[in-house]
Amino acid sequence: MINRAEHILKHTFGYVSFRGKQKEVIQTLLDGQDALVLMPTGGGKSLCYQIPGLVREGLAIVVSPLIALMQDQVNALQQLGLNASYLNSTQSREQQNIVMRSMHDGSLDILYVAPERLLLESTLNRLMAADISLIAIDEAHCVSQWGHDFRADYLGLHVLRQAFPGVPRVALTATADERTRVEIIERLALENPSVFVSSFDRPNIRYIVQEKGDAKAQLIKFLQNHRNEAGVVYCMTRNRVDGIAAWLQARKVNALPYHAGMSADERAENQRRFLREDAVVMVATVAFGMGIDKPDVRFVAHLDLPKSMEAYYQETGRAGRDGQPSEAWMVYGLQDVVRIAKMVQDSSANDNHKRVERAKIDSLLGWCETNTCRRRALLRYFGEARDEACGNCDVCITPPKTWDATEAAQKLLSNVYRTGQRFGSGHVIDVLRGKDNQKIQQFGHHKISTYGIGADRSDRQWRSIIRQLLVQNYLLINEDQYGALQLTEKARGLLKGEIEIYLREDIEAAKPERIKKRTFNVSEADQDLWEALKNRRKQLADDQGVPPFHIFHDATLMEMMQHRPQDNAELLTINGVGEVKLEKYGDDFLEVLCRFPN
Ligand code: ADP
Ligand code: ZN
Repeated sequence: MINRAEHILKHTFGYVSFRGKQKEVIQTLLDGQDALVLMPTGGGKSLCYQIPGLVREGLAIVVSPLIALMQDQVNALQQLGLNASYLNSTQSREQQNIVMRSMHDGSLDILYVAPERLLLESTLNRLMAADISLIAIDEAHCVSQWGHDFRADYLGLHVLRQAFPGVPRVALTATADERTRVEIIERLALENPSVFVSSFDRPNIRYIVQEKGDAKAQLIKFLQNHRNEAGVVYCMTRNRVDGIAAWLQARKVNALPYHAGMSADERAENQRRFLREDAVVMVATVAFGMGIDKPDVRFVAHLDLPKSMEAYYQETGRAGRDGQPSEAWMVYGLQDVVRIAKMVQDSSANDNHKRVERAKIDSLLGWCETNTCRRRALLRYFGEARDEACGNCDVCITPPKTWDATEAAQKLLSNVYRTGQRFGSGHVIDVLRGKDNQKIQQFGHHKISTYGIGADRSDRQWRSIIRQLLVQNYLLINEDQYGALQLTEKARGLLKGEIEIYLREDIEAAKPERIKKRTFNVSEADQDLWEALKNRRKQLADDQGVPPFHIFHDATLMEMMQHRPQDNAELLTINGVGEVKLEKYGDDFLEVLCRFPN
């Protein structure tokens, strides 16, 4: 049967070989066993159930909470010549009846269904009367009550075990942690599942973190490297989303806003444009994201610090699902830290919960200020050990210099102490630098011994030092005292000269602009062909009202550009060109390619 699976991979999907653990997962399901699949975003989870669903006799059910996406997923399969459909609450009764009927005449290969819809007695009864080949439960972490994406309906899915005895079930998720894994197996009542855990590394994503200066100017500069590419810019608040989107629009960037304060229609329209158009920059809060399966998102930018490493990984993971070079870029500054600390403090959560949240922020900050490979540190956080540095993060590319900061840190800590541990970083730095202002006069801080002893460093350098001292736990921010900096127990040793401390140079000094963008290599000479291929794809997509990537992915066009196939047989060797798509679009693209002889 695995031969049949390989045949489908090649002829229907047009792919040369399985990726990662796809083959093992498929084998397990073909053997009739349950499975739990943990794969990062872009790892290729869909094929893990689509292919065995096609190989096994009967209808494959895919449970998904992402109603807005079902139409698109079904369209994508139809593009491949498969018979797919979906059932959810957005359909009219009549539409639902048509789907229900097709379940029984054996013509349907794959059915996407929302959990609440599946669990209706009427739906279950119908499906139980049909011939079911397998059940895939996508986004399986939605059963976890501790996670962000909890869906109560998912808890009911354990009934599938009794309802469909002998039908293999596979749960899939991109959430890695151990606790969620155990929860999924228990709550979905998987039977002796084989568990497949892939590396969570996303090697095509380049991680870049810069210190926040003039964030807008930094963003524009970053976007200059990403002209004509789709991406997401995450901001913390709705106001900021609106502001940044308008600001970018005024600068001729094709930017759109997305946040929970907009009407459902506006959001749907902006999401639609993000998917359908070639290069929209979506400026969004975290309300935008789950279930965006656009493969060619070339960058994810963070203008504000996310809440945790988990959130950062999930959000940046939306870049580069197609495996092509992509960037995760973030600017961060002390203001972010203070703001998040205050948010945690003001929230209604209990103290224990607040402590956990604070620890999560600290981990993220520590990661921002790391002076070793970011990817290694990120993977280590998620429990994956790795020896080599990656060569594809800002730290690897332009290693930060460190310096002996013992004396500077002593100056700063003693200044915090002498001003009574009652002030935030702004005032502390003003005193250190010997500024003259009303607040300093009011508290008589121009008369204390630490006044002006830090005049040799800029505001920016002091902010960087404070951040690193916070991360290394020499300082803390007391939220009960309006963000006042205070000394920790550990600070004592440093002040007494018992500890030496090395800090990384101001991130600014690392000049991240020197980091050359790693893109697809569209050379000057190929530029016209590349544009022509994309234009043809866009026309075909618009004619059918589907996103361009449903016709072909960027990676497929890229291969066409490199290999310049001249006939059907050559075109079939291109990754992503299967038989049905060859039939549908072969001539269109050959026509373009013939206009650009090698
Ligand atoms: P996930 O659901 O894990 O995020 P997808 O199933 O959407 O990932 O797959 C990510 C991308 O990788 C898709 O564009 C898909 O077409 C592509 N892909 C998956 N498996 C293969 C393969 N074996 N060969 C080539 N491309 C693949
Ligand atoms: Zn690295």
